[in-house]
Amino acid sequence: MTISYHSTRGRAPSIAFADVLLTGLAPDGGLYVPEQWPTSAPAVAGRGYAAFAADVMWPFVEGSVERDAFESIVADAYATFDHPEVVPVSTLPDGIGLVELFHGPTLAFKDVAMQLLGRLFDYELAKRGSTVTIVGATSGDTGSAAIEAFRGRANVRIVILHPHGRTSEVQRRQMTTVVAPNVRNVAVEGTFDDCQDMVKAMFGDEQFRQDVGLAAVNSINWARVMAQVVYYHWASQRFAERDETLDVVVPTGNFGNVFAGRVAKRMGAPIDRFVVASNRNDILTQFFADGAMTIGEVEPSLSPSMDIQVSSNLERLIHELLGGDGAQVEALLRTFRAEGHIRMDESIRTRVGELWAGESLSDEQTLEVIADVYQESGVLLDPHSAVAVGAARRRSSANRQIVMATAHPAKFPDAVETATGIRPDLPPGLADLFERDEHYDVAPNDLDAVKALVKSA
Ligand SMILES: *Cc1c(COP(=O)(O)O)cnc(C)c1O
Repeated sequence: MTISYHSTRGRAPSIAFADVLLTGLAPDGGLYVPEQWPTSAPAVAGRGYAAFAADVMWPFVEGSVERDAFESIVADAYATFDHPEVVPVSTLPDGIGLVELFHGPTLAFKDVAMQLLGRLFDYELAKRGSTVTIVGATSGDTGSAAIEAFRGRANVRIVILHPHGRTSEVQRRQMTTVVAPNVRNVAVEGTFDDCQDMVKAMFGDEQFRQDVGLAAVNSINWARVMAQVVYYHWASQRFAERDETLDVVVPTGNFGNVFAGRVAKRMGAPIDRFVVASNRNDILTQFFADGAMTIGEVEPSLSPSMDIQVSSNLERLIHELLGGDGAQVEALLRTFRAEGHIRMDESIRTRVGELWAGESLSDEQTLEVIADVYQESGVLLDPHSAVAVGAARRRSSANRQIVMATAHPAKFPDAVETATGIRPDLPPGLADLFERDEHYDVAPNDLDAVKALVKSA
């Protein structure tokens, strides 16, 4: 079977996986989704992560990639992880399962998808004999995962904008200490939103877009969702006993991670419900509580990768809830952008409630969870994973709950130290991070200045 992809807004032609990979956003402003869904997944049955991953993802890429090449791309991607199981699972004393997604090179779950994307871009661009310039804005984890995945690749230049002085030191150093001729870091004298607006403006400038061969690897790229589907199958098969189903709790920002779980459930993973866990930026908690959303101001928190108001991947769920009607999706999202508020119909709200729940934790509650879990088990949680563990502990469910642990505690050492008095060590590969030289340009908060840097990258 060869799966084609169409836009959530229904006004763009269907395309193959290889084009989805390089295009990112559809020309009608929508997000790509598969036209058919595989209806089953292979059994883990004692196999290693990479072999299992290649089987799970195969139906989504078939027709665009040769099977042998795909298997070696996947094997190479996960050989960069520093745990033999790639995504190990463990259990806290109260029975909550942890799915450890942070054993990749930059210590956050984004490596799971980005390590694969780097290699898939290489393969596809070499086949076409073309090159691209990836431009992205980051508040931290995405930029470091992308730089690590694309550094040194022959057909890709990568420019990452970050807000000057507004990322954590670990996050900044993971980006700026990479030495590779195709990598450029730009510290913009502005906020994350300023950086993101500049990236949007560059994509909106058709001439510039063609001149530099602009490409994006932000979380709306379908290939990232696809790579994440794998670990929902992997973990749910390992945790679910015979005939059991699980609740999965996911610390959520752009909704890319938890949407991958939804795809896995569609393919038959033994999952009952999804719990979307947020920090004080709780717009998704509202949505899953009463089917309505009102945009507010982004507030900084201890879990910065979830400091988001508009979750871009929610559009893929809304497309499903509206029965795949692209015109309705477009109208609804237009209203949301224009008025800052939407409300789903009663019948849809009921359906949402059957599958989804939302919980949010304050910073104080997050620190309490980190402290309590450490005292009970000796396990150090990063603040993002702690938000999800806190959400799970607050709920009562007949199902076993498993939590997606999205970052290594050493990536957010200040919060962990505040909660426990212990400063977690960086893993051996990153132990000298604070001694390495940094390389970055500082740019004014000015689009033309940044465009000039991208052109000369
Ligand atoms: C990006 C990120 C999240 C949020 O994931 P989404 O796919 O945007 O919902 C959560 N935790 C960490 C550590 C992250 O880096």
